[in-house]
Amino acid sequence: MSDLSSNLEKLKPHLERFSNKGVMNRIAGQVVPAASGATFDNSSPVDETHICAVAKSGAADIDAAAQAAKEAFPAWRDMPGTERKKILHRIADAIVERADEIAMCECWDTGQAIRFMSKAALRGAENFRFFADRAPGARDGQMLPSPTLMNVTTRVPIGPVGVITPWNTPFMLSTWKIAPALAAGCTVVHKPAEFSPLTASLLIEIAEEAGLPPGVWNLVNGLGEEAGKALTEHPDIKAIAFVGESRTGSMIMAQGAPTLKRVHFELGGKNPVIVFDDADLDRALDAAIFMIYSLNGERCTSSSRLLVQSTIAEEFLEKLRARVEKIRVGHPLDPQTEVGPLIHKVHFDKVTSYFDIAKSDGATISAGGSTLDQPGYYVRPTLFEGATNDMRIAQEEIFGPVLTAITFDTDEDALQIANDIPYGLTGYVWTNDLTRAMRFTDRLEAGMIWVNSENVRHLPTPFGGVKASGIGRDGGDWSFEFYMEQKHIGFATGHHPIPKLGT
Ligand code: NAD
Repeated sequence: MSDLSSNLEKLKPHLERFSNKGVMNRIAGQVVPAASGATFDNSSPVDETHICAVAKSGAADIDAAAQAAKEAFPAWRDMPGTERKKILHRIADAIVERADEIAMCECWDTGQAIRFMSKAALRGAENFRFFADRAPGARDGQMLPSPTLMNVTTRVPIGPVGVITPWNTPFMLSTWKIAPALAAGCTVVHKPAEFSPLTASLLIEIAEEAGLPPGVWNLVNGLGEEAGKALTEHPDIKAIAFVGESRTGSMIMAQGAPTLKRVHFELGGKNPVIVFDDADLDRALDAAIFMIYSLNGERCTSSSRLLVQSTIAEEFLEKLRARVEKIRVGHPLDPQTEVGPLIHKVHFDKVTSYFDIAKSDGATISAGGSTLDQPGYYVRPTLFEGATNDMRIAQEEIFGPVLTAITFDTDEDALQIANDIPYGLTGYVWTNDLTRAMRFTDRLEAGMIWVNSENVRHLPTPFGGVKASGIGRDGGDWSFEFYMEQKHIGFATGHHPIPKLGT
């Protein structure tokens, strides 16, 4: 069983490699610096030490990557789906082989705890397998005969696409976006988040070593407002799959308008977990805690608003408080750690600013509300009580290990509070009354709802949000709907009368 010191030993050679070589771009199969030679510093949230230099790319680098993706597109598109399937499975195999390395680097780069990251690397492999198996059928369509025509539909890959990912669980999210694009027959330019560039460079290296042809997938590092913006504006990039903040989504939509970009957005959330007094309260408690304090609360689907029925609120909140106080904050490579440091000083300052906001709003900080007095961006798991839904702590995405608890009396109250928010990504409903669950989920404004469960992802189901939480869905065939164009072809079955003009 590995412990912190053995994990640190295992990490060392990987960090040395990054420290010596930096994180560069990978365009048309070549590892290259930014055309300007510029770099930016990447440091670890664990202890604020320097990790490596990262290519600070701009429009010229994006253009080179888009050209590479454009040139590689016809051959990749025309490769039989069965062949693409084999390559994607080989990528999955290689991810599994290097899962430890990926998990350790992810922890060091993002502050996420190893207990979750080892699974995230394996989930990345599963994403590749899932879409690999669907690659041979990606073009399948329908036959819709009419009296005079045999109408058929088919799908074709849209072309080179841009994928822009955030810093929370960056490895898993990159695989989630890139695997279906490749399975569909698209080529890719990936711009990972500037705060967490390590594992994206491992992922493309793995893919090319597993036999992915050069140029099919290209990696360009850089800042959002430079490299990211240039990607969204590039005329040869046909679609942008973006995961990140809602306001960045708005910017990308405007940036992509002149070139009529197709966009798929997975954006922010402020998701309610609603606990009724007839629920299995022990399970509801476990799930509510898991869904906000795992992954440092840096999770779009986190249950960051607890709506608890007033009849059970006192008892439920007392148990919750006791558990939150006991959550283990520590080094992300320590297998005991449940909450690691937040990604970056900028984000740490944002999350901790809500401690004062909560107080000035009139809420109570009943657990946490403080930081660890040591280097690194460590925040104690925090619980706000006595909140009302109009407070900033109830309306804004904090994106840290911070839960806002609100009480309600009736089903109508709960629904009104749950829906009175700009976001609509997920909802979690805890009740043993079946008809209440059906009524409630029917009216809850969210793209994904779980009843008597935490978020358990099933890859064939649609993933995405409503309102400011996103546009479009992926998962299952929905991913192919985004990365492919529908095509209709009508074949005349006889000599139907064609209207004659000018006779
Ligand atoms: P962010 O929007 O700041 O950055 C995301 C990516 O966009 C980064 O790669 C960044 O460089 C790039 N970017 C920034 N400005 C850009 C621009 N003008 N043009 C093009 N690209 C630009 O988000 P973040 O802080 O990295 O991530 C956290 C956010 O992501 C949270 O709001 C979270 O809820 C959301 N998220 C949503 C989902 C989901 O599935 N709905 C999943 C994970 C994270």
